[in-house]
Amino acid sequence: MNVQLTNMQTRDVEALLHPYTNAAAHRQVGAHVIETGKGVYVYDEHGREYLEGMAGLWCAGLGFGDKELADAVAEQVHKLPYYHLFAGRSHEPAIELAEKIKELAPGMARVIFQSSGSEANDTQVKLAWYYNNALGRPEKKKIISRKKGYHGVTIASASMTGLPYNHIDWDLPLDRFISTGTPHHWREALDGETEQEFSARLAHELEELIEREGPETVAAFIAEPVMGAGGVIVPPAGYFEAIRPVLEKYDVLMISDEVINGFCRTGEWFGADTYNVNPTSMSLAKQLTGGYAPLSAVALCREQAEVIEQHTGKIGTLGHGFTYGGHPVGCAAGVAAIRIYQERKILDHVRKVAPKFQGHLQRLKDHPLVGEARGVGLIGALELSPDKSGKKTFDPAGKLGAKLMGELVARGVILRAMGDSLGFCPPMIITEEEIDALFAPMEECLDATLAFAK
Ligand code: PLP
Repeated sequence: MNVQLTNMQTRDVEALLHPYTNAAAHRQVGAHVIETGKGVYVYDEHGREYLEGMAGLWCAGLGFGDKELADAVAEQVHKLPYYHLFAGRSHEPAIELAEKIKELAPGMARVIFQSSGSEANDTQVKLAWYYNNALGRPEKKKIISRKKGYHGVTIASASMTGLPYNHIDWDLPLDRFISTGTPHHWREALDGETEQEFSARLAHELEELIEREGPETVAAFIAEPVMGAGGVIVPPAGYFEAIRPVLEKYDVLMISDEVINGFCRTGEWFGADTYNVNPTSMSLAKQLTGGYAPLSAVALCREQAEVIEQHTGKIGTLGHGFTYGGHPVGCAAGVAAIRIYQERKILDHVRKVAPKFQGHLQRLKDHPLVGEARGVGLIGALELSPDKSGKKTFDPAGKLGAKLMGELVARGVILRAMGDSLGFCPPMIITEEEIDALFAPMEECLDATLAFAK
């Protein structure tokens, strides 16, 4: 169907290649051009209002148009718009933010900054390799990630991402990147297997994988505590408790990818706290700055940090770093975002409103099109399925998810379809009334999608 594109949409299709977009289809329907935002709402070029149920890309935790955060960014642009951390140079926003991260993430001793989540995870891979070279273990380099995990799109990060579109025709994953099972009980458990039994089986499979590959070749395991872009998959009971001893037994680093989970989203400061991950390092981004400026960070435990620090002494430098890693404007945004999370008690707020949010998701579980409703804190998903068994999927996958999303946008709600799972990750400032508004059109949209499916 060809629609009449606006002037802005015509300029868009002639000038941009969009990430995660079917360019041929996009040329027909045109871009949805967003102009402004306030609180949990954004407004398009026609002035239409949308409740942003995904906080943009899981990042605008403080919503849009937060004056205090915007002022902190502006102030830093005026004071010192650029400086770097290379060759021993530093600036206060980076120092202060690293101190804040250490304070919030117990066990983490040093912070190294980048600009994006992908760069943070790429840095994790390089630091795991560097660390093992420093320890005289040049064979210990393989990285284990999980199918459906999302860790970004740079070459190493995309190699860890366990989703088909990030590998097909990209010549990925690279060697040394291997994968293990998805901790999705509803879809993956055997008949009658409890969550605890399922977790124990996944830990056993991980152990077998490490043994098969050779423990002396395995450097790290990376996991999002709650998987985000793979469809918001909440780990089954006892999962990290079962995985952790396996990693310890074989001296494998545990990287917690907190890019979505971090900073209150799951009802604790980090997903690692919610799920007893006990990581050796963490990747942070997105809500680190509330999305108001690009910034990411890797936080390292003392042992790994000390080995790396000493090794730089031997080699003469840490041969790694990005021009914009630790950008002062990003760091100032990070300092301000964390101050706001603390002063406005965002963690308490998430805990207070989460039952209403999760209650709405659970209520929708009974709809004939919904196979599973899942989530924790202020993140969740509805998975569309032909039945409730977890055994069947729609063919082709993703068609109904896209239809449902279209129905929602037409009613003023923006969410994200990941295949046939519909993700929810609203700004954490969302009120109970706004949560009701977010879910208000759901039944009608699910009914319309069901009618379309028949
Ligand atoms: N890790 C996780 C868990 C993510 O969700 C994402 C992005 O969505 C990334 C890493 C990559 O971050 P970026 O898109 O900033 O490179």
